Amino acid sequence: DPRLKAISDAITVVPHFPKPGIMFQDITTLVSNHKVFKHTVEIFVDRFRDMDISVVAGVEARGFMFAPSKALGIRTKFIPLRKPGQLPGEVIAEAYELEYGKDCLEMHVGAVESGERALVIDDLVATGGTLPATIRLLERNGGEVVECACVIGLPALKERRLLNGKPLYVLVEPR
Ligand code: 5GP
Repeated sequence: DPRLKAISDAITVVPHFPKPGIMFQDITTLVSNHKVFKHTVEIFVDRFRDMDISVVAGVEARGFMFAPSKALGIRTKFIPLRKPGQLPGEVIAEAYELEYGKDCLEMHVGAVESGERALVIDDLVATGGTLPATIRLLERNGGEVVECACVIGLPALKERRLLNGKPLYVLVEPR
C-alpha cells in the first residue's frame, strides 16, 4: 500500500528529544500534511467499519489527534482518556509504569457501557505500558476492547504479549 510509505515518510525522526539517546518520532509533520493525514483516517476507517464498534477511546495527548476522526468515520462515540485531574465528573484511574517513572490515565465513569465494543487509539506504542492501562480502564466499566491501534509501533510489540492479549494494529514502524 503506497499510502503506508507516504505516512512513514511524513514522520520526522528527531534525535535526542526529549532527552539524550531517544529517537523521537514527531507526528506533527504528518498531521500538517492533509493528504497523508487523510490516508491514516481512511486506512483505519476501512479496517474498523465492519467490526461492530461503538466506542473509540483516544489517549491524551497525541492520541487525541488521531482518535476523533476515526470515531466520526465509523459513526461511534469518542471518549477521551485523560491525565489526572482533567475530567470534571466521577472518574476511575489506572497507573502504569513508564521507562522512567510512573503515569496515570483517567476515564469518566459511565463513558462506556457494559458490553460495548471499543477501540483504543494512540499515536505510538513504544514499551507497551500505556495501552494495557487503557484496556484496564475500559474493561473495569464493562467495555470489551476489540483492538488497540497506533500509527507507529515497534515490530516486537506485534507479538501482542504486552497488551493483555488484545490485538495491536499498527500502520508503520519507527524509522
Ligand atoms: P509506551 O507506554 O508504549 O512506552 O509509550 C507510548 C506513549 O508514549 C504514547 O502515548 C506516545 O504518545 C508516547 N511516546 C513515546 N515515545 C514517543 C515518540 O517517539 N513519539 C511520539 N509521537 N510519541 C511517543
